[in-house]
Amino acid sequence: MYEIEQRDEQLVNSSASITYEVGFDRAPQHLVSVRMRIEKVDAPELTLVMPSWSPGSYKIRDYAGWQGNVRCYDVTSSGRVPRAFRWRDKAALVVDAKGATVIEVEYLVYAHDRTVRTSHVNRFHAFLMLTSICMYVEGRMNEVHHLLLTHDQQLWPSISTALSPVQAPSTKGVLLGARNYDILADSPIEIGDHRVRMFTAAGARHEVAVATNYDVDIDWLTERIKRIVEVETALFGGAPYDRYVFIIQAYPGAGGGLEHARSSVNAVDPSALLDKTKAIGLLSLLCHEYFHLWNVKRIRPVELGPFDYTRETYTPMLWLAEGLTSYYDNLFAYRCGFTTEKEYLDSISRDDIAKLAQVQGRFAMSTRDSSYLAWLKLYLQSPDGSNRFPSYYLKGGIIVMLLDVYIIDHTDGKYSMDDALRMMWQRYLDDPSRGMTEDECIAIIERATRVQVRERLMSWLDGTEELPYDEIFSAVGYRVGAAPKKAAASTFGESVPAAEAPEAPFIGWSLADIGGRMVVRSVDDGSPAQQAGIGIDDELVAIDGIRILSPAQADHLLGGRIGRAAQITGHCDGRIYTTSIVVQERLFPGLIEIDTVTERQRQMRKRWLQRSL
Ligand SMILES: [Zn+2]
Repeated sequence: MYEIEQRDEQLVNSSASITYEVGFDRAPQHLVSVRMRIEKVDAPELTLVMPSWSPGSYKIRDYAGWQGNVRCYDVTSSGRVPRAFRWRDKAALVVDAKGATVIEVEYLVYAHDRTVRTSHVNRFHAFLMLTSICMYVEGRMNEVHHLLLTHDQQLWPSISTALSPVQAPSTKGVLLGARNYDILADSPIEIGDHRVRMFTAAGARHEVAVATNYDVDIDWLTERIKRIVEVETALFGGAPYDRYVFIIQAYPGAGGGLEHARSSVNAVDPSALLDKTKAIGLLSLLCHEYFHLWNVKRIRPVELGPFDYTRETYTPMLWLAEGLTSYYDNLFAYRCGFTTEKEYLDSISRDDIAKLAQVQGRFAMSTRDSSYLAWLKLYLQSPDGSNRFPSYYLKGGIIVMLLDVYIIDHTDGKYSMDDALRMMWQRYLDDPSRGMTEDECIAIIERATRVQVRERLMSWLDGTEELPYDEIFSAVGYRVGAAPKKAAASTFGESVPAAEAPEAPFIGWSLADIGGRMVVRSVDDGSPAQQAGIGIDDELVAIDGIRILSPAQADHLLGGRIGRAAQITGHCDGRIYTTSIVVQERLFPGLIEIDTVTERQRQMRKRWLQRSL
């Protein structure tokens, strides 16, 4: 039976027949050593498997690829005797266990991939994503699993993880436990000298762990995280855990997050923590990953748990798992008081509507298909991916926003998606072992809100037409319109622009400065760049005979030529070519208040944007 819930008290003084002893003697070389001890062996063969992916991150990563030096032993009272083994496939090891009762398997893992979903270890810290460290024993995943960390406890005094302490730390190490392999795999560990804060909220313990080399204001951050916990638990009527760990990793260029049942890992560039006016992205990320403890870890598509760790798991429902969560992350940041109403509405225009308007792939593939093929689309994006599919985060989030407004409108403000979420939560509590089918999910939305949404919702999720913004948003007194904006002005190092900035031009390419060469990284279908015959990886050499030395210079030059043709000198495959493009004005679609807002529209808007539940 699939079981993801664990309380710390359940593991105290527990025993386990499967234990991983994890060592860090080779940490400077980014190596983790694992000695896996399996007791109560009673079959002639034992099969151990290293996962190929981590739930929540829909990409085959083949963690076994970074595993090496495998050795197997039969452990008897007189000592350890090497045992033969063979590979059944790229990730499964079959050990000869004839006559043995205890088998030990040793191996090294190279852990040097710094993301929230992969392990990274060096002389100063270890972040262990256990799907990439711990093999599972086929047929024995439901047993209690123990993990003994044998690091230098003086050097690395802090351990932050949702795994539960089994015993007090001793000279042997720190012994942690999970009720089964799924919980073990879902519990990453940060070990090092990072700073930690604790707080209690919603009757549960919370830990904020910040791993960074920067001097960040952890108390300020903890206050805000406490607010997130209060606001989100209020929606569901409490915290469904005894303890929750926020792991925050701040290093240059970092980004992304990964959700777990009792923890989350949030990676962020230090600038988000050093300048509090830039913290909103991190706060939204924290709202997002924390909200996942309900939506996706527990309320979940039927395909997402139990997991087959060896292969892709397909679901069309990431519009619910990620789209709905993306809608709610900024909404929660607003409900927490981190943004004003105007800032929230601006973010809908800028980060949702204007962004989707740039994605030509919204006309090429539906949101459900984009979810189904996430493994090859979002997670293995081709350079022209933006023309081939819409992100189920972005378009899925907008669809759920439209659905929310639609429900509020059709119930005169009596119900909203909050009510649907609460009923989905009740459905989880009634049967935690099984996720929801899409049919079941939509039936719950309809039951909770008394609105027939199936046909509308499915047409949005399956469709490739433009979403009916004006029709839906009119209920709250908005329409979607497009307005031009000024381009960034050239300042030549001064804070005052040397000349008034021209309008922003639309060419439909993105340019990157690669060693002083302006390289085209994407070309939008149907854009001036496509029509001019410009391709990905071409180099932009000159515009109207002027050598281009930065993307901003190209924008500035083209911004002065809107509605006119410009001569482009390009470079492709070692040859120079010239072509002509017609420069268009860049428009930024967003929410615009309609001319005469009625009292009802004002009321519905107030209901949609109400902060307290
Ligand atoms: Zn997410």
